[in-house]
Amino acid sequence: MSVLDSKVPKGPLKTKWTDYKNHIDLVNPANKRNIDVIVVGTGLAGGSAAATLAELGYNVKTFCYQDSPRRAHSIAAQGGINAAKNYQGDGDSTYRLFYDTVKGGDYRSREANVYRLAEVSANIIDQCVAQGVPFARDYGGLLDNRSFGGVLVSRTFYAKGQTGQQLLLGAYSAMNRQIARGKITPFNRHEMLDVVKVNGKARGIIARNLVTGEIERHSAHAVVIASGGYGNVYFLSTNAMGSNATAAWKIHKKGAFFANPCYTQIHPTCIPRSGDYQSKLTLMSESLRNDGRIWVPKNMDDVMAIREGKKKPTDLSEDERDYYLERRYPAFGNLVPRDVASRAAKERCDAGYGVNATGEAVYLDFASAIERYGKEQAKIHNINNASADKVYELGAAIVKAKYGNLFQMYEKIVDQDPYKTPMMIYPAVHYTMGGVWVDYNLMTTVDGLYCIGEANFSDHGANRLGASALMQGLADGYFVLPYTIGDYLSHEIRTGKIATDTPEFDAAEKEVTDKINFFINNKGSHSVDYYHKKLGNIMWEKCGMSRNAEGLKEAMVEIKALREDFYKNVSVPGTATELNAELEKAGRVADFLELGELFAKDALERAESCGGHFREESVEIGGEQAGEAKRNDVDFAFVSAWEYKGEPGDAVLHKEELEFNEIELKQRSYK
Ligand SMILES: Cc1cc2nc3c(=O)[nH]c(=O)nc-3n(C[C@H](O)[C@H](O)[C@H](O)COP(=O)(O)OP(=O)(O)OC[C@H]3O[C@@H](n4cnc5c(N)ncnc54)[C@H](O)[C@@H]3O)c2cc1C
Repeated sequence: MSVLDSKVPKGPLKTKWTDYKNHIDLVNPANKRNIDVIVVGTGLAGGSAAATLAELGYNVKTFCYQDSPRRAHSIAAQGGINAAKNYQGDGDSTYRLFYDTVKGGDYRSREANVYRLAEVSANIIDQCVAQGVPFARDYGGLLDNRSFGGVLVSRTFYAKGQTGQQLLLGAYSAMNRQIARGKITPFNRHEMLDVVKVNGKARGIIARNLVTGEIERHSAHAVVIASGGYGNVYFLSTNAMGSNATAAWKIHKKGAFFANPCYTQIHPTCIPRSGDYQSKLTLMSESLRNDGRIWVPKNMDDVMAIREGKKKPTDLSEDERDYYLERRYPAFGNLVPRDVASRAAKERCDAGYGVNATGEAVYLDFASAIERYGKEQAKIHNINNASADKVYELGAAIVKAKYGNLFQMYEKIVDQDPYKTPMMIYPAVHYTMGGVWVDYNLMTTVDGLYCIGEANFSDHGANRLGASALMQGLADGYFVLPYTIGDYLSHEIRTGKIATDTPEFDAAEKEVTDKINFFINNKGSHSVDYYHKKLGNIMWEKCGMSRNAEGLKEAMVEIKALREDFYKNVSVPGTATELNAELEKAGRVADFLELGELFAKDALERAESCGGHFREESVEIGGEQAGEAKRNDVDFAFVSAWEYKGEPGDAVLHKEELEFNEIELKQRSYK
């Protein structure tokens, strides 16, 4: 059994990264010109990495399945990006960002990586401002901040509800500069379908041109995977429809370990699902919890009256509402971390207090904020005795300026005006903290194969705090990988060009082609989505927020059976030599059907409740603490990495204790 070596440098947390950078090997500029790097994925992580590596002088090839890097899933990010700038003078610091992230992740992240992340966070903002990213500014012209869950400071930089889009345009413009210089060769509409290893090292990929169907070989001295998260294993999630696990799963099958596959972030503020024919869930940004108050009715009579349409939420007085987060967590109130908010919403709904027809919704209410802002504006504008209508008008204008696009999105989907009636929200799958295991250099267990951004596991433990995914992706791409990869590439300066006419490339290409031909020729009776939906259902019911050993064992059996049926009966129309979206989906769902089983196995192995997951055997429910999972304080098996051997079901679990001794494991709840 291999031993995982995190390669975390010795020394105090505070100086690890600086000391490390001072001592790693470098590649001189002339040698960089002879070194090729492949970057799979051009979202925020891959886009920033590609631009920076090319700026340094490496020859970069980028791959993405969209028609442009601008369409990566990162564009969907709404709320913001964290950085320990302390612009608000409210007590923020590198240490506090580090501490919040480790605590928010239920003490299951690798501390050295998180400290480094907190250190470089401030540089990200400077970098992006220099690129022209239009972060929101306050009245005096300085960069504005808001707050996100699980913290007591305002450290989130934002661009209205479109932060990801603006950051991605910044990274894309940085890429474009390198494309113009000839240092990046972009391969858009290309899907990586396998990695090629030569003598144990990653030396290239097999990609399919999604427009023509042509299978291509690309070689490099190192391969970087930045392919995003796998939340769509649940079918319904807030992820972009195309987000998938294929790149991460293929490298796993070639020897890259997977860590914590079962840690999924269930985001508390999503628009509830409306029926069986839905293919996507919509996020309402966490930023809304800065001003929105979450509640359900106190009395069951009111719940029933609302469900039956006999009462409106606005008919209920303050006394008749249960602002359960403010009640249970007075210090953090509505801004508890996502896992805590999701579990609390589920607990209220499971207890019967859900406010929509399915009983799976709680309110997110802006009436207090509109009134508060309205009164403040009336004072600012010197309007004495402002009428209720005037206060509403002034307050709604402020809320619109802050969250207008989110409110508009909600109204379009739900057909209710959230300025006038509270939004309805419910937890939904949003982000995957688990992913490809990487060491301190962001290298996987395969030499020369790196993994960055949401696709890796390293920084968020069992629960990611809001606005920290963008921070991690850009930290990895702009500030971490460009240093650490040099240490490896310094040993490649004499290697020369990597040939693609070798048995290793032949074998990988054959595997890819055989699979494609199989799908085209199978001529079964069910669509790919038929299987994806069924898988999603098993995942949500048995590997979702609440889990128990029996259900997880059942899930493993059911997923295996579903996979077998998929290979017998899946139908993929069209041919392999054209743009064929069903064929693309078939490959991705095939990988989800393997990952899903591993996921359930990992969840089964963990007899613990943590992050967004209740493990029923270790949960105590009752009284005021109903729904607050009793944490299993004994089990600190933080990393489970799986080595692929034959069938996914045969995976072998490896556990390693990383260094969790630097923060005292104290006060683990958010009361
Ligand atoms: C609705 C929503 C809102 C969010 N809001 C925030 C927020 O406000 N703040 C925050 O910090 N985080 C937020 N997140 C999380 C954050 O957006 C993501 O975690 C982050 O953008 C992921 O970036 P990435 O670069 O790792 O991956 P992605 O942006 O998902 O990019 C993946 C890239 O890989 C490519 N790719 C994948 N597989 C292959 C393959 N096999 N071959 C070739 N190319 C491939 C894709 O084409 C794409 O270019 C949000 C997430 C969602 C769903």
